Amino acid sequence: MNSVQYSDKKSGDISAALLAHYDVHARILPWRAAPGSDTPNPYHVWLSEIMLQQTTVAAVKGYFEKFTSLWPGFAELAAADEADVLAAWAGLGYYARARNLHKCAHEVLSRHDGQLPQDEAKLLKLPGIGAYTAAAIAAIAFHRRAVVVDANIERVVSRLFMIGQPLPAAKPAIRSAMDRITPEIRSGDFAQAMMDLGAGVCSVKSPLCNICPLAPHCAAYQAGQAEQFPVKPPKKAKLLRRGIAYWAHRDGHVLLVRRDAKGMLAGMRALPDDRWTARQDGDGEPPFAAHWTLSNKIVQHSFTHFTLQMRIAVAEGPREAEYGEYWPMNSLDKAGLPTLFSKAVSAILAERV
Ligand code: SF4
Repeated sequence: MNSVQYSDKKSGDISAALLAHYDVHARILPWRAAPGSDTPNPYHVWLSEIMLQQTTVAAVKGYFEKFTSLWPGFAELAAADEADVLAAWAGLGYYARARNLHKCAHEVLSRHDGQLPQDEAKLLKLPGIGAYTAAAIAAIAFHRRAVVVDANIERVVSRLFMIGQPLPAAKPAIRSAMDRITPEIRSGDFAQAMMDLGAGVCSVKSPLCNICPLAPHCAAYQAGQAEQFPVKPPKKAKLLRRGIAYWAHRDGHVLLVRRDAKGMLAGMRALPDDRWTARQDGDGEPPFAAHWTLSNKIVQHSFTHFTLQMRIAVAEGPREAEYGEYWPMNSLDKAGLPTLFSKAVSAILAERV
């Protein structure tokens, strides 16, 4: 599926509509300057962007306030002991971020006179700053035009343009679409407006399109397909295991066993099988000697981590059911068999009719 293309005029309409909405509805966050502000604090922007990597806004707020009160700028943070920085970070996770934060403060002091560099290429050379963070800092802290794409923005853009490739292959197309709609001025506010929209309005499930300022421009909404974007990658094929179940019948009864107390379907009543598990195919060995005939029926069942294809071997059972219990075929629905074995029973009974 090709994505929808917009003219420059329409791209301009999108950024204008979103910025107008942001001017009124911007989230108030402790690290954020007011919409249109000329004086965002680069230390606050950098610190919050590092903390927000893999962490929610709600979890970050308290840590941000603790860090800025302990270490209000790069000089104070660089002068701190790494152990104290790590202790203050405790609970936020991904501790490499805290080490890089401290190293980065040192580099800002030693190589950049205590000021964060303003352009993306220089920011990218600092510890802990990757492509997304460099673009976000350049745009938000320094009003540089930069194309900022985080997971929320990916979702909004893929819906706006109905980008039909699945993620992650769609990332270049999403970036290029975000590039087209990012304005020359206020690109930092625009990025934050897109983040806010993704966090509050254009949610993963049930997006609030009826209050969305981009609804008139949104191709997925217009097509009634908002929730179908971004397109998810196809699920990996499940591991396939093979096994055999044994149908030992005698006088209108069939032999059932209790499964082991541990392992899959533990303790449940079942047909005997050839010891298949999630880790291996069955060994093909019947539970006892008899004139076994393999039925043509194959029963397939999906477990969480694998799919089992089970064939069914049929024989007359021994007179004495030492190995299990004979159960009347006409009341197998009362045996409490797990779905896999109920399928096997249905397959065999259908064959016998
Ligand atoms: S109209 Fe709906 S799907 Fe489109 S950007 Fe807005 S909230 Fe998201």
